[in-house]
Amino acid sequence: MQELIEVGRDAVSRGLVLASAGNLSARLSDDAFVVTGSGTWLDRLTPDDFAVLGLADDETGAPAPGGVKPSSEWKLHHRAYRARPDANCVLHLHPRTAVVLASLGRPIRLLTLDHAYYLGSIGVTPFYHNGTDELADTAAEQLREHDCVVMRHHGCSVVADSVGMAYRRALNLEDAAQATALALQLGDAETAFPAGDARHA
Ligand SMILES: [Zn+2]
Repeated sequence: MQELIEVGRDAVSRGLVLASAGNLSARLSDDAFVVTGSGTWLDRLTPDDFAVLGLADDETGAPAPGGVKPSSEWKLHHRAYRARPDANCVLHLHPRTAVVLASLGRPIRLLTLDHAYYLGSIGVTPFYHNGTDELADTAAEQLREHDCVVMRHHGCSVVADSVGMAYRRALNLEDAAQATALALQLGDAETAFPAGDARHA
């Protein structure tokens, strides 16, 4: 939880999410995860701001009565962990450049070694209202093939085996989007990182 608290503070300071938007989670076990509570501001999290939800086969993930009320976007996290048994962290943020490019139908390009290494590939989903099954299910479907997904007109989710790796991914997603926007401003709509050369020394 301490790592998520630090990610929340840093993500807000970098403008990857505003006010009480966005939500963060980490897997506790095969059957449970913690997710930030409803209405929490990510730069003011305390250990008391996390709800525990279930992941077992026979559970919908619906929160048990009592305890901390989870973010209204908890289904995004629940479906992501169900789709990706290897994921130990899901970060859902609202990074402006990535969301704007995806909303305009402009692919976010991988331009640097870091983009290629940390992101690999990026999924995109149509707009669905937050908190809906459609949003959570379409995002999870993309996460079967990609570690990052951008939901048009809304935000992104990234998954990884650790909180640190997930946050590096989130930072690189927005950096790739900003680099793509800069390339477009410079009149380049094609250049991308050389395929198959994403090794980090
Ligand atoms: Zn959101």
